Amino acid sequence: MPDTPNMDGWQCPTPPAAPEQVLLGHGSGGRLSAALLRNLFIPAFRDLGLNAEEDQASLSLPCAEPNSLRLALTTDSYVVRPIFFPGGDIGRLAVNGTINDLAVGGARPIALAAAFILEEGLALSDLQRVVASMRDACKQAGINLVTGDTKVVDRGKGDQLYITTTGFGIAPPGVSLSVRNPRPGDRVLVSGTIGDHGIAIMSVREGIEFETVLESDTAPLYDLVVAMLEACPTLRWMRDPTRGGLSSALNELATTAHVGVQLTEAALPIRTEVQAACEMLGLDPLYVANEGKLVAVAPADDAGRLLAAMRGHPLGRKAALVGEVVADHAGVVTLRSLIGGERVVPMLAGEQLPRIC
Ligand code: MG
Repeated sequence: MPDTPNMDGWQCPTPPAAPEQVLLGHGSGGRLSAALLRNLFIPAFRDLGLNAEEDQASLSLPCAEPNSLRLALTTDSYVVRPIFFPGGDIGRLAVNGTINDLAVGGARPIALAAAFILEEGLALSDLQRVVASMRDACKQAGINLVTGDTKVVDRGKGDQLYITTTGFGIAPPGVSLSVRNPRPGDRVLVSGTIGDHGIAIMSVREGIEFETVLESDTAPLYDLVVAMLEACPTLRWMRDPTRGGLSSALNELATTAHVGVQLTEAALPIRTEVQAACEMLGLDPLYVANEGKLVAVAPADDAGRLLAAMRGHPLGRKAALVGEVVADHAGVVTLRSLIGGERVVPMLAGEQLPRIC
């Protein structure tokens, strides 16, 4: 009988149960990010109205009628490395990412604020390129950039450039998308291929070459959202599955709405080159970031109409129905695999791809 192989050096590094310092995993969008929110930020700001369940907060205006327009507000920081990558750059990402966090709440993006943290030594031509790209992205999405701030840190104390964007939008009356809405029987849809952004970044970092250049999918999703809401006013919830990927967005849904989610592997739209790169790098496309895709949940009867509307939009051509909300295994996401088995798709435990957005 062969000896049992010694696996001592082969265990995955799981993060300590209660870390005493900030770890890269606290920025993963997975389990550690959720713990940081739950244990540190939410207790501090709960009674000040912090909404940590959705991508945006929506506020009633003091002068407005009840049930009229609401102000939607969101903020996000961008630390992606490298700052230029196929299909985009940190500036375009900062504009589109913030627009999308408003859009998935059904809010029309109106204006942005941007704060820049610059490292001493950053080439001004690079900053100029990023700013021009932000301008393009704003024009493309029809949004204004109306205020901002610039700070500089010493050489070696930053990494070229970080951007924080804050977005303001208007949420029309009658739209109430919430992570608490989905219920068993609902269908889960994605607007296109998953993992493109994360793999585009990783391919630059790791020097992986494809036959065709794989580009980030960064795009503003508000137009697509309008088409979806028009076709399917009963839409329950949407999220842009950025860092942590589709798995993290659906795990948040399962946990918060106390439902199970069952995905079908064969239905997941994944580019061949993304699948190949994931296999090469030991990554699961379900955990890889997207920057121009959304995941949506709708009642089963309306899912076909919604899917058709998504496919009719340029940013939703590869949309697919990928799963179902179920009453079984509340709080847990599962995947029915190509060979017929079913496995749990847990929340990301550590950090798979640091500084991906
Ligand atoms: Mg988001």
